[in-house]
Amino acid sequence: QKIQVALDGPASAGKSTVAKLVAKKFGYIYCDTGAMYRAVTLKAIQSQIELTDESAVVAMLKQTQISFQPGDPVQHVFIDGNEITEAIRQPKITNSVSTIASLGGVRAELVNRQRDIAKQSSIVMDGRDIGTAVLPNAPVKIFLIASVSERAERRYKENMGKGIETPLEQLKKEIEIRDHKDSTRKVSPLTKASDAIEVDTTSMSVEQVVDEITKIINE
Ligand code: C5P
Repeated sequence: QKIQVALDGPASAGKSTVAKLVAKKFGYIYCDTGAMYRAVTLKAIQSQIELTDESAVVAMLKQTQISFQPGDPVQHVFIDGNEITEAIRQPKITNSVSTIASLGGVRAELVNRQRDIAKQSSIVMDGRDIGTAVLPNAPVKIFLIASVSERAERRYKENMGKGIETPLEQLKKEIEIRDHKDSTRKVSPLTKASDAIEVDTTSMSVEQVVDEITKIINE
C-alpha cells in the first residue's frame, strides 16, 4: 500500500528541507510542488506572457513538460528538458509566483500532474494545498509553521550561501506578502487541513523536526 505524507505550511517554514530528509529516511519519493508553480512562473516570464492572463498561461502550461530528477542536496528541476533548478529560486520568481498560483486553471492542471506523481510510489509531497486539495485522503498530514522572524532568518542564511544579499527586513516583508497572497487567493488558499497535525518549528532543529514527523508517520 502506498503511503502519502502531505506537508503544507507558509513560505520558508522548512518544508522542503524536512520533506527531502523524511522521504530519504522512509525510501519514499519526494515531490516539491512549489517548484512546479515556480517553473510555470519562469517560463511565463521568459515567454513574455502576462502573469495574470490565465488563458495564455494555461495554454502555455499544457504544452510544457515539468520533470524532476533526484539529487543531493537538491532535487533537479527541468522544464521541457532544460534544467531550471537554480533559475526558479531567483528573488524575481519567488516574488511573482503567487500571482501564477492564484490562477484556477494553472492549479487544476498542476494538481492533476501532482496526483499522477503520487500514484507512482509512496511519497512526501510538500506545498500549500496538499492536505486540503491535492491528496485530501493522505493518511499523514503535517502543517509546518514558524514565526516570521525565524523564517526570514532562515531565508537570509540560505541566500547568503548563494551570494544573494537581501536585507532581513525586506525578506520578512516579502514572506508576509507571499503568505498573505497565498492565504487569500480564491482557489485552494493556504490553510491547515482540519485533520493535519501542526508542528511549530520556530525553536526546533531540522533533526528535531524530522524526528517529530517520523514519530507521526510511525503512529
Ligand atoms: O514552496 P515554495 O515557496 O517553493 O512555493 C512557491 C509558491 O508556489 C508559493 O508561494 C505558492 O504561491 C505556490 N504554491 C502553491 N501551492 C502549492 C505549492 C506552492 O500555490 N502546493
